[in-house]
Amino acid sequence: MDVYGLLGNPVGHSLSPPMHEAAYDALGLEARYVTFEPDPGDLERAIDGAAALGVAGLNVTIPFKRDALAHVEPDDLARRIGAVNTIDFSGGAPTGHNTDATGAIRALREHDVALEEAAAVVVGAGGAGRAIAFGLADAGAEVAVANRTTARARDLAEEVPGATGHALESVPDLLVDADLLVNATSVGMEADASPVSADALHADLAVMDAVYRPLETRLLRDAEAAGATTVDGAWMLLFQGVAALERWTGRTAPTATMNEALRSRL
Ligand code: NAP
Repeated sequence: MDVYGLLGNPVGHSLSPPMHEAAYDALGLEARYVTFEPDPGDLERAIDGAAALGVAGLNVTIPFKRDALAHVEPDDLARRIGAVNTIDFSGGAPTGHNTDATGAIRALREHDVALEEAAAVVVGAGGAGRAIAFGLADAGAEVAVANRTTARARDLAEEVPGATGHALESVPDLLVDADLLVNATSVGMEADASPVSADALHADLAVMDAVYRPLETRLLRDAEAAGATTVDGAWMLLFQGVAALERWTGRTAPTATMNEALRSRL
């Protein structure tokens, strides 16, 4: 029996256990996916303990994604992003990866969104914004980051190859010639609000929202009304899980099964 899990605090409402366990059933794997909620000061002990107990793989979520970097051997992408959301214990020392970035990119590609040389606007410069900005730049997009705290956007843009940093108020101007807009803020989660005014959206845009609760955010409704291609946040969540599972098991993930397990709970 292989044990996988999620390290976070809190993790009570996580959709990862049903999503991963649906995949194990479909693949005929004897495995379980459990949640762990260590105290914030106990991260290192938790990772060492998981290694000692033979845990095969861990996802990492709030508030541990940044701190986990110091307790694993991060790959190049995770090191550049400065955060780990997936730990693999199959080698000697645990290795750290960032499948939020690769998951976001795969979610876009699965919706036929062209990324090479695309003009991309990422709104948000927190954890999700960082992962998506690096992922898009690696995929060949030209990235403009805009954030409520402008200095944070500028700082991130200095780290991401070819990126520029902007105030949130610049988003309508940036969108005029843009191919892609990604919301990586939490706006739209608590209230029926959007970080971008509806009249800045247009039919030549693809719009992805990282927010997945609710699934249909105000931004996505506005984007659809403008004739844009839309990609909801569950796709990013799905493909970060797909990438983690494929890394841990070496198997091709049953994407449709995982998607169904996820969406039936949203
Ligand atoms: P975070 O690190 O706390 O960053 C929050 C971001 O939202 C910051 O850029 C912040 O701007 C901005 N923000 C918050 N309130 C705002 C407001 N009222 N107006 C404008 N900007 C505001 O959070 P995170 O981890 O990046 O997560 C962001 C969102 O992405 C959450 O909804 C999360 O659920 C979602 N997410 C989804 C996935 C997925 O797989 N679909 C993965 C990761 C995260 P300041 O810098 O100015 O504070």
